[in-house]
Amino acid sequence: MTRSTCDNAAPNIRVSGLSRRYTKHGPAIIDALDVEFPAGEFSVILGPSGCGKSTLLRLVAGLDSPDAGSIHIGGVDVTRRPPSERHCAMVFQNYALYPHMTVEDNIGYGLKLAGVGREERSARVQAIASTLGLHALLGRKPGQLSGGQRQRVAIGRALVRKPPVLLFDEPLCNLDSGLRQEMRTELRRIHQDTGATVLYVTHDQTEAMTLADRVVVLNKGRVEQIDTPHALYKRPHSIVVARFFGSTPMNLIEVMCSPEGVLTLGDGQVLPFKVQAAMATSGPLFLGIRAENLKVASPGVSATVHAIEELGSHRVIHCRVAGQPVLVSQSDSQPCSVGSTLNLWFPADEALLFDGASGQRISSSLVQDNVSL
Ligand code: ADP
Ligand code: MG
Repeated sequence: MTRSTCDNAAPNIRVSGLSRRYTKHGPAIIDALDVEFPAGEFSVILGPSGCGKSTLLRLVAGLDSPDAGSIHIGGVDVTRRPPSERHCAMVFQNYALYPHMTVEDNIGYGLKLAGVGREERSARVQAIASTLGLHALLGRKPGQLSGGQRQRVAIGRALVRKPPVLLFDEPLCNLDSGLRQEMRTELRRIHQDTGATVLYVTHDQTEAMTLADRVVVLNKGRVEQIDTPHALYKRPHSIVVARFFGSTPMNLIEVMCSPEGVLTLGDGQVLPFKVQAAMATSGPLFLGIRAENLKVASPGVSATVHAIEELGSHRVIHCRVAGQPVLVSQSDSQPCSVGSTLNLWFPADEALLFDGASGQRISSSLVQDNVSL
């Protein structure tokens, strides 16, 4: 990358109809993907292991070529262009440092290749090292560093080139949880300072929640949902997202719906809510409700307590409702014991309905019913 391109404003990145399969008759790892990553935003690509996240990042960086579709960076079609013309710097999960070089040389190597003189190179490496707390380590080799320090060097090596696009592939997954939290804060700050367009790949929903301006949820090479972390948490479009997003997965309780909109559990209990628009549905539905929105109150559904998890600031009660597992999060400490029966109530506007067959959310909302239990 040349200096002039380093100083470019952060571009947007658009992939259109992008497909990649590794074997001729095998599955599409990236499947006709259409996504736009806005300029200067911190976008997180979230999905389970094997869903195609690294493949997508490698395609954007130019380390791999698509079978179909296009990639535009800043409006320029870079689909067939080499990595050096894409203005991206990438940070890999395994750091990929040069073991025989010092920290200083590792960070400055890209600048050296780009022909930046010794003096300027040294000044830029020093500046990045002080930003990342690596000053005292510049003379060491990677083998003499902890995992967290190595990852900082890998980030420093990417940042020193002032790239308008930063690609991160699960950069924190080898670090312990305390360090991960610290690095998350640092990455947010780096993003604010540089204004770069960031694509950050992870399978960790906490990272997505805490880092992202917007999250692209990927499932089997396709987009499941694109939203802010808050919207993904409150309004998942599908069961896949509802299960994946949130440190406690959303409760999903199977219910049957009558043509009149009455909802019944497997054990015959009738819910104190009806579906607003009467739906003649033949299959089961799933009622989605977050653990913190379930309250011990009447009228409600009967639940038996199987276990209680004390977490300091709150506790999670593991219940069974009509034989199905349900989690209740409580911040107060009402008396409750394993084996007891509770009545669980929830506000209608906090509940979501999902179609059992397609797994997609149904827009129909719930209304309070006067059914007495
Ligand atoms: P993720 O990063 O989401 O865990 P990847 O993009 O690495 O997923 O891989 C997606 C799928 O593609 C996996 O099933 C993986 O085994 C397969 N895959 C990845 N790279 C190659 C490759 N070079 N050759 C063949 N299959 C691959
Ligand atoms: Mg990966």
